[in-house]
Amino acid sequence: MTDDSKPAAQGLNFIEAIIEADRESAKHGGDVVTRFPPEPNGWLHIGHAKSIALNFGLGLKYGGRTHLRFDDTNPLTEEVEYVEAIQNDIKWLGFDWGKHLYFASDYFEKMYLYGEELIKMGKAYVCSLSGDEVSEYRGDFFKPGKDSPYRERSIDENLQMFRDMRAGKFKDGAHTLRLKIDMASGNPTMRDPPCYRIRRATHHRTSDAWCIYPLYDYAHCISDALENITHSICTLEFESHRPLYDWVLEQLRTIPPGAPVAAPTGQPHQYEFSRLKLNYTVMSKRKLLQLVTEKHVSGWEDPRMLTLAGLRRRGYTAESLRAFATSVGVTKNDSWTDMGVLEGAIREDLNLRAPRAMCVLRPLKIVIENYPEGEQETVDVQNHPLKPELGTRKVPFGREIYIEQEDFQEVPPKGFFRLQPGKEVRLRGAYFVKCERVVKDADGAVVEVRCSYDPSTRGGDSPDGRKVKGTLHWVAAATAVDVDIRLFDRLFSVEQPGTDRDFLLDLNPHSLETLQAKGEPMLASSSSGQHFQFERTGYFFADPKDSKPGAPVWNRVVGLKDSWAKEQRADVRAVGTAQGADVRAVGTAQKR
Ligand code: ATP
Ligand code: MG
Repeated sequence: MTDDSKPAAQGLNFIEAIIEADRESAKHGGDVVTRFPPEPNGWLHIGHAKSIALNFGLGLKYGGRTHLRFDDTNPLTEEVEYVEAIQNDIKWLGFDWGKHLYFASDYFEKMYLYGEELIKMGKAYVCSLSGDEVSEYRGDFFKPGKDSPYRERSIDENLQMFRDMRAGKFKDGAHTLRLKIDMASGNPTMRDPPCYRIRRATHHRTSDAWCIYPLYDYAHCISDALENITHSICTLEFESHRPLYDWVLEQLRTIPPGAPVAAPTGQPHQYEFSRLKLNYTVMSKRKLLQLVTEKHVSGWEDPRMLTLAGLRRRGYTAESLRAFATSVGVTKNDSWTDMGVLEGAIREDLNLRAPRAMCVLRPLKIVIENYPEGEQETVDVQNHPLKPELGTRKVPFGREIYIEQEDFQEVPPKGFFRLQPGKEVRLRGAYFVKCERVVKDADGAVVEVRCSYDPSTRGGDSPDGRKVKGTLHWVAAATAVDVDIRLFDRLFSVEQPGTDRDFLLDLNPHSLETLQAKGEPMLASSSSGQHFQFERTGYFFADPKDSKPGAPVWNRVVGLKDSWAKEQRADVRAVGTAQGADVRAVGTAQKR
């Protein structure tokens, strides 16, 4: 009986629903064995995280196991560097394959012998058409294929030629081994697909032992069956390859006892889900590699790259990426995910995790005229508003302090509640201050704001119940430390890079901005790998590669709430339109 409402009602995704039904019917003896099969030709990206979380998640949920198998069938593009990076990234993400680390190349000998068995069954032949000819003969969805002139070679001749292919008697590309299926199939994938090609290239594991290599469709199903994978999960573009997956294994099951190679035991089944597509980014490994080799970014670990290593270095946590991978769901619907969903996941995680600190990104000096010269004090500031148990810290306060340039407007637009002439604001955890006058340079740009403070408001509250609308973060000038900051914007400036032109033309030229900010003294002693929320400016992470002891370099992981970002933008727009060029000049001419 089928009951379509069942999976949804139980909160299962469609693959979990299949697995639960399989377990009920004791298919695969109730086992759940999945695999994550990366090709080691690049570093893992955020899309892979979805597949990793799904495959390893199923293994864990159903008490089964998950293999890590490198699909290393193309020695031209694969390297040990990638094999190592991929393992690091999966471990960091929080998953463990235990002893189940495999390589498709572990099975090269068996795959070859299966090729011989298929030839003996009349199910494979050596074809001497060139690559172009093979494509031309294959036709397409609208055009039927036509038989290769080599399709009827005798079994003996095929066997001899396949052995000679292995022995290196032919030039690269001279022949292929093809599966003899059906050139008239409505599914072009089934039109006698090649399963072996001649390619003289040194393999990162098997070195020069082979000059013929199996193709993905052939190698993948065999690897799954040899490892007794039960549920082989891949992305939707392989849907039309499933009949081929099944066909190969069906033939191999008929290998007679006593043959030089035994039939594989596993009975895996392929299931397809839709891949993650995230806007403002590219996920093709070819394109990511191009960004690296042509130095558009500093490497695979550039904090702007949506590789797992880039995200980690930027300050994304493994927890947030796992939460993201789960939140996007597992379906067969092809759709785009907004970058905001990823940013929301890290914000949510860091909001709880990151202690607060004050750091002024673009400083504007404030002098508090009625604060005694030469005097200094410390005020207590909360470390985490949601975690009172983290207590408070002592932050130095004095006559001269820095606030953000954008937190002051000499001629404020409507709705601007931050510092402005004659108005009072709260300095977080310290005092109310009121702007008395401004000091300008020869060009008329504001270089300093003169204020008064109300000593009775210590701690940031007024005893007479007076309210202020704006609360600013600040840093005392005398004790401020210089803070190296990197702000990132999206690497691409359009939602779908490369849609109608070279994707490199869609790179955002302003994706990286470096600043020297002013921070409270404790920031100097932060260690690499530490997170903070810098009040009102975002979540920051001390870069593990570039930070030095006593000199952290801070990556902005993500800005604060979207609503805050919108409020900021609204202010800027209001300034630009209501006040005209004069005010814009203040914004840009203030001393950096
Ligand atoms: P390429 O960019 O060369 O097409 P790939 O992204 O498919 O490569 P693989 O190393 O073959 O890279 O991928 C390993 C596994 O990760 C595959 O099972 C693949 O389906 C899955 N995967 C890759 N990209 C995504 C994605 N965007 N969303 C979900 N799964 C993905
Ligand atoms: Mg692939």
